[in-house]
Amino acid sequence: MSDSAQPDPGSGARPGELLRLLRLAVENIGELAVDDEWLHGQVAMLNELLALPVSARDLEDLEVRLRETLERQSGLKAGLIEARDRVRTTLAQFIDHLSDLTASAGEYHDRIERCAARLKAASDIVQLTSVVDEVMRETRQIQLAALRSRDELSAVRARVEEAEREMHKLQRALAQATELARHDSLTGLLNRKGLEDAMRRELARSRRRATPLCVALIDIDDFKQLNDTHGHQSGDAALAHLAELARATLRPQDALARYGGEEFVFLLPDTSLDQAVAAISRLQRELARREFVRGGHGIAIRFSAGVALLGADEGKDGVLARADGALYAAKRAGKNRVVTAN
Ligand code: GH3
Ligand code: MG
Ligand code: MG
Repeated sequence: MSDSAQPDPGSGARPGELLRLLRLAVENIGELAVDDEWLHGQVAMLNELLALPVSARDLEDLEVRLRETLERQSGLKAGLIEARDRVRTTLAQFIDHLSDLTASAGEYHDRIERCAARLKAASDIVQLTSVVDEVMRETRQIQLAALRSRDELSAVRARVEEAEREMHKLQRALAQATELARHDSLTGLLNRKGLEDAMRRELARSRRRATPLCVALIDIDDFKQLNDTHGHQSGDAALAHLAELARATLRPQDALARYGGEEFVFLLPDTSLDQAVAAISRLQRELARREFVRGGHGIAIRFSAGVALLGADEGKDGVLARADGALYAAKRAGKNRVVTAN
């Protein structure tokens, strides 16, 4: 297995990059200080990312990804806050109007009562006519106020509904942006953070349902040579090609992650060790069959794999370490093969 899978934070990371990353983290926290629950999630994610041992290259990737996510999220967040404020203002207006209406209704009752008293006391036709005029005037006013409030009410309701629709749209976009932080931009597979989540989920599910879970660790053979011969861009395209084939060949419920540079981890739920070896071998055959073509040349991509079946009391680090041991054995035995862990 290559060096990039066992990175050393001490030797790989440069202080300048770490500082930039930390600054980004702080910026992120500042941006999100509005929504508590969300803020905690973000901080937890950053902490987890910072806690992982990373090479200088991983760190650069991490920074780019964080920066992209941060930009998207702060834009969306601003929109969300604006929409929320709009709902709040509109509701305040509505309550104002409502109290106007009840206040004028209260006055109306008072005046009508006064009219009723004058009506009782009226002794001639002139006095009576004046009372009736007053009642009619007051009633017309309250009717006008009620009508105006009804129109304003439906306008306010329309504005609230529109703001609510906008908020839902923004929330969906926000969820999408957060989702992006769990995927690798080159291959579209899960990244390390996404893999951690998937492992936690799949390990728990496997225990709950007492079903087997297999973990396959895959490392492309002689990838350095592929890069040297055909260029780094071809190397990148080769990684994307392998990811695409893996997605097409494995089952939808399998979780596929890019673990490091040219290394992948596949989680195969409900799968015995034999079935896992068969699935990974099938991917090897597909890779040989559907050649990777670049600039008119076919470029062979081969990989070695270590497969481990999750043990009864084993955690994610344990099962990954055993898969890693099996991968190492596959490399030592001549590469382009699948080896199972004990
Ligand atoms: P082995 O068969 O023993 O695995 O040999 P290898 O050449 O595949 O392994 P080694 O660890 O020596 O080299 C891995 C290479 O992968 C070196 C590095 O430049 C390249 N690499 C890592 N990440 C990327 C990437 O994102 N894109 C490209 N193009 N190359 C990458
Ligand atoms: Mg490697
Ligand atoms: Mg390799």
